[in-house]
Amino acid sequence: MDFDLPETAVAVRDGVAAVAAKYDHEYWSRCEEEHRFPTEAWQDLADGGWIGLCIPEEYGGGGAGMLELAVACETLAASGGTAGIFLYILTPGFGAMTLARHGTEEQKQQILPGVATGETQFCMALTEPDAGSNAIEITTSGRVDGDELVIKGQKVWISGVENARWMLVVARTTPADEAQDKLGSRTGGFTLALVDVPEALAAGTLEYAPIPKLGGNVVTSSQVYFDDVRVPLSNVIGAVDEGFPVLWDVLNPERILAAAGGVGGAEVALRLAAEYAREREVFGRPIGANQGVQFPLAQLKAKTELARLMTYKAAWLFDQGRPCGNETNVAKLTGAQVAWEAADRAFQTFGGMAYSKEYPIERLFRDARIGKNIPVAEELILAHIGTQMLKLPRSY
Ligand SMILES: Cc1cc2nc3c(=O)[nH]c(=O)nc-3n(C[C@H](O)[C@H](O)[C@H](O)COP(=O)(O)OP(=O)(O)OC[C@H]3O[C@@H](n4cnc5c(N)ncnc54)[C@H](O)[C@@H]3O)c2cc1C
Repeated sequence: MDFDLPETAVAVRDGVAAVAAKYDHEYWSRCEEEHRFPTEAWQDLADGGWIGLCIPEEYGGGGAGMLELAVACETLAASGGTAGIFLYILTPGFGAMTLARHGTEEQKQQILPGVATGETQFCMALTEPDAGSNAIEITTSGRVDGDELVIKGQKVWISGVENARWMLVVARTTPADEAQDKLGSRTGGFTLALVDVPEALAAGTLEYAPIPKLGGNVVTSSQVYFDDVRVPLSNVIGAVDEGFPVLWDVLNPERILAAAGGVGGAEVALRLAAEYAREREVFGRPIGANQGVQFPLAQLKAKTELARLMTYKAAWLFDQGRPCGNETNVAKLTGAQVAWEAADRAFQTFGGMAYSKEYPIERLFRDARIGKNIPVAEELILAHIGTQMLKLPRSY
């Protein structure tokens, strides 16, 4: 695969693999069982420069781009740290990439150096109880009051609030039904702003309540309540009411990183399945000699290689500042599919032992399943491909 990767990305892959090798399946399974953030792996990655990768060098980062970030996320997942996708999406993705592209000089100077050292973490709040796939319909409001934005509303499933210094909140400064008339489109009226999480928690204007969940427990995912959270207007990313294009520069990296994590997840599931199938003998021969075991694994290996190429292409286009929506969606669709299919096939290959906590298959299986639903559901991606790439009529 190296021939199509720039040297910077090869260096990232090798560097992250070296760090990740110190954290085995047992480590990730223990963090999951204990619902514990993998602080040691996080700090080790940050110390190596693998968290601040896409931060410009003048703010203490590596000056690389989305491609290198995707390779890092894939490599961590491929080591067995499939929940490590949260490590790459929340802070380097939502935080560093957004600020590097859209932050003011003051925001970059204040925040990015801390991200590069691993000290500062982020979360991002878009989804609401009545607005998931239909993000246009969010109702959490932002009211401009003097030189402050006052945020009120409720979000759901927000990951990593407990570790976050900053929450990138997506609010409506103009409600959807007014945006059409006032701003010419229902996509007008979005504003992105940074909430200082510890400060708002201490003020009692921000509260969160973790939702018990099936996997990915290295971070919590929470209901979040905003009761007139006040942030200075200098914390707005982009301009008031004009956040929608910025939001796409948040969501596309998220999807690319999800795709990369899926590819890494598929890679580790196939590797473990192949190892097991080479060694496990039934009826006097390795189970992997049976074509019923071997061919599905081989088919998934081929699909994983394709999903990887599309992920790299989407990341490369993003780095060029070129349209990348179609490629990002195809990468996200296929990355999530191979992760799930490979985890399921590994489960089948391990027989009864797949169900045992002695092996990491059950954890990979749980981590892989959610990728088909988040950060954007498979059906919504298919709707994008159908309407944008095949020019079919819209259903919504
Ligand atoms: C573990 C976890 C972590 C998360 N972390 C975050 C986070 O940090 N920040 C954040 O903002 N959000 C987060 N989310 C939320 C996530 O992005 C949403 O769950 C996702 O966007 C789907 O929205 P929904 O759950 O409301 O599903 P819904 O929108 O209610 O959809 C339900 C189902 O209906 C299908 N559907 C809906 N409309 C159509 C249609 N027109 N055609 C066909 N099918 C359709 C969908 O595809 C889906 O399968 C997280 C979610 C989870 C589970």
